Amino acid sequence: MIENRKQMLLVISGPSGTGKGTLANLLLEHDPSFSFSVSVTTRPKRDYEIEGVHYFFISDEEYDELLEKDAFLEHATVHGNRYGTLKSQVSKLMAEGKNVLLDIDPQGARQVLKNADDCVSIFILPPSFKALRERLHTRNTDDPVEINRRVHNAHEEVQHVGMYDYTIINDDLDTAFGQLKTIIEAEKLSTARYLPVVEEE
Ligand code: ADP
Ligand code: 5GP
Repeated sequence: MIENRKQMLLVISGPSGTGKGTLANLLLEHDPSFSFSVSVTTRPKRDYEIEGVHYFFISDEEYDELLEKDAFLEHATVHGNRYGTLKSQVSKLMAEGKNVLLDIDPQGARQVLKNADDCVSIFILPPSFKALRERLHTRNTDDPVEINRRVHNAHEEVQHVGMYDYTIINDDLDTAFGQLKTIIEAEKLSTARYLPVVEEE
């Protein structure tokens, strides 16, 4: 059997605090065929973050230059900071034969859905807005004003769930991750990206 596989561009999106990063990290640990597309951002680096691993941290001027060069597959201002997926980053990983994982906000996801001819999109929903707020508190990366802003934005973001190929409710993490693996397993067998050739022997 000759395996003919085309790589997958996987978009995981949803409101801030819904568990996108958690699920994305579990997938990256579980499935070495996936690589994370490192985004650029103008937001300040958090203590635990590593340049080039979590993000490429850049200035507003550098971001403007990238915009001018049409370097972004998608870009958005999210909760007051600017973020973007570099076309070069995605094509480099694809050239290495990797499936590429994007963890991006719903504005960016909408652009990828419009511009990329073949991507798999998953929207992660929280079980409730109360749970979402509690997760943002527990994560401890945002102050109460910022948490209010994110929960407020989430009410609008969940309205667009119908645009995505799949929805996962991240209530119990094991269940949600199981559903993510099921989607990936099925998508790897889709004839959109898997066309094996049967040989005589
Ligand atoms: P996002 O990347 O969508 O902003 P995170 O992955 O950072 O969200 O998750 C937000 C917080 O919620 C983190 O503290 C994470 O450990 C926690 N979390 C993620 N999934 C669950 C879950 N199913 N149940 C409870 N807490 C969760
Ligand atoms: P954080 O600053 O907490 O790491 O991320 C804030 C939000 O920005 C999250 O919802 C995350 O998914 C989103 N984000 C991260 N990188 C990108 C990107 O390249 N493009 C877009 N549109 N959103 C991103």
